[in-house]
Amino acid sequence: MSLLSSHNPKPHVVLFPFMSKGHIIPLLHLARLLLDHRATVTLFTTPANRPYIQSLSDDDITIMDLPFPGNIPGIPPGIESTDKLPSISLFVSFARATKLMQPNFENVLQTLPHVTCIISDQFLCWTLESATKFGIPLLGFNGMSAYSSVICRYVAVNRLLSLHESPDEPITLPIFPWIKVTRNYFAYPFNERNPSGPLFDFIMEMDIFLSNSYGLLVNSFYELEPRFVDYLNRESKPKAFCVGPLCLTRLPKMEPVLHNKCRWIQWLDQKLAQGNPVLYVAFGSQAEISSTQLTEIAGGLEESKVSFLWVVKKSGLELGEEFEDRIKERGMIVKEWVDQKRILEHEIVQGFLSHCGWNSVLESICSEVPILACPMMAEQYINAKMVVEEIKIGLRVESRNGIVEAESLKNKVKELMEGENGNEVRKKVKEVAEAARNSIKDGGSSFRTLSQLIEEIHLHN
Ligand code: UDP
Repeated sequence: MSLLSSHNPKPHVVLFPFMSKGHIIPLLHLARLLLDHRATVTLFTTPANRPYIQSLSDDDITIMDLPFPGNIPGIPPGIESTDKLPSISLFVSFARATKLMQPNFENVLQTLPHVTCIISDQFLCWTLESATKFGIPLLGFNGMSAYSSVICRYVAVNRLLSLHESPDEPITLPIFPWIKVTRNYFAYPFNERNPSGPLFDFIMEMDIFLSNSYGLLVNSFYELEPRFVDYLNRESKPKAFCVGPLCLTRLPKMEPVLHNKCRWIQWLDQKLAQGNPVLYVAFGSQAEISSTQLTEIAGGLEESKVSFLWVVKKSGLELGEEFEDRIKERGMIVKEWVDQKRILEHEIVQGFLSHCGWNSVLESICSEVPILACPMMAEQYINAKMVVEEIKIGLRVESRNGIVEAESLKNKVKELMEGENGNEVRKKVKEVAEAARNSIKDGGSSFRTLSQLIEEIHLHN
């Protein structure tokens, strides 16, 4: 008999996403999935994040606000999400400040009905101490692919990046001999031979957090990266549970916008009517792009002569009215928050110039849109490698001295949108999308993993 039969109380899952869009969004999808699996869900956040969460999440989810700590040096009052930070260099101070929420979190936790498990972000390492105190199993979430988790962990544990003086010297991973990395694939401070400093210390703590948690929840599906999921489960702790792609689970409040078309969707409709395929251009919610780089990207897009929809962060530098004037027939610049998934799902969008944040990669796959990989920070360089070399659903733009130049971008854009290589990766992404859809269907690998995990945790209690 199933443990979740009517004789057993429903499992009660507490979700605690880190305060950044790329971490909140997948856990909102997970919340929806948990409801589908007959769990009750309580989600913790802060007052400033509540409206965004409420605008997307199910009414069946209980949302608990914990005040975000005040008087944190460098963090202006009211800033409670990393995409609103004046600079991403404040990330560690911001993430560390969340620990001050621990007493409040524990006070609320003890008032809740019996909690079956906590699913918490790796950036909220301190939640493991709270979970342990209350005897609740905790699953960690790092928002990464198994491929990136394995590579980042393997090179760090084996200190492979300190082997060579040159940051360009390829290092082969003995466990996966077809994978070669250089120090340049890793963001600061991991691109140093002997990394140290506040970010390094913080990431090391996260690794301990994940190793000591009940399991690692992976927003991916087994068929996408079986060797890497197997490796995680064979060689490292804790056990990895692939329950994605989470973006394939529809959030109910997303539906009404289909009848309320914003100007960029209307513009995409126009391009569809004209038969002009569109390249979608976006670099996520956090990357800071230098004005030199922005100018090169603008030049490359303009010279490529393809139609493009470019979402620029509000705080991004001005591209100039002249540029917008020159490209207005073919290009649209949007400086607002968009529903990215909806754009990618538009049938005229045929390519995605992306920073390769993991959510963006998954959304692109699930929308059958091939990627032109242009990583900017964090583990995006490893994701880009995965996209191009491992799953072969994209092409890579090249950079020189850390800058992607207009001419090189123009050529790659044309190759993706019009060339033979573009057709190859477009064909491949359709196959991968189908495997993704199958994985979350009743009986699919991710569906089964989540069902079994819920039962297992229930039994553990
Ligand atoms: N996103 C969005 N609208 C925007 C910018 C971003 O919906 O205007 C979403 C995007 O669809 C993705 C998330 O924000 O789900 C960004 O996550 P990702 O891992 O791609 O990049 P990050 O922002 O963490 O660098």
